[in-house]
Amino acid sequence: MDYNYLSKNLLAITKRLPSHARLIVVSKNQPVEKIIPLLELGHREFGENRMQDVKDKFTPLKKSYPDIHLHFIGHLQTNKVKDAVAFCDVIHTVDRTSLAQALATEMQRSGKYPDCLVQVNTGDEVQKSGISLQDAESFTLTCRDILRLPIKGLMCIPPAHEAPAKHFALLRDMAACTKLELLSMGMSNDYEVALQHGATHIRVGRSIFEEN
Ligand SMILES: *Cc1c(COP(=O)(O)O)cnc(C)c1O
Repeated sequence: MDYNYLSKNLLAITKRLPSHARLIVVSKNQPVEKIIPLLELGHREFGENRMQDVKDKFTPLKKSYPDIHLHFIGHLQTNKVKDAVAFCDVIHTVDRTSLAQALATEMQRSGKYPDCLVQVNTGDEVQKSGISLQDAESFTLTCRDILRLPIKGLMCIPPAHEAPAKHFALLRDMAACTKLELLSMGMSNDYEVALQHGATHIRVGRSIFEEN
């Protein structure tokens, strides 16, 4: 297979990244064969949304590329917390008290403290993960100051059929209020808007892996 397009896609995005922002390549549903060319080009930040895929795909890859940085960006079940803490460098989806408590307990037990982000449901969509807008600030403070989780920032996924700018602005303002530095926002369709609003981590899948 010819994977030249992967390097073209990677370069097209990285050359537009401001120095304070990082690209997380979202490799969910992608085979290891398509991840290796990106590793060979020096890329190290990857995102997955299922713990099983994190373990199956990246445990072998980490043997050859030990400095891979793994981001968990999916809904995290409490029975997967142990794996998440063991295998991931950043958990983007802390969104409820039961999960936050489980993470705090596991971090104390294991002595491993991956960075955590609070996922905010900025569109208050019923079916979507993320803490509601109304509860976001108090939840963030509870996670950080009472449970002592290493909360470093906020993450959101704007509603599919709305202009994303106001959601990104909202997340940025909320992070500023709680003095958090990291903003995980922006995907293939809207990462440029997210960067304009101060994204520190964009999460891009299709624009990397689809040949166009
Ligand atoms: C799939 C996914 C992405 C990447 O989306 P693309 O449209 O493929 O760029 C980003 N963030 C999350 C949480 C995802 O599940």
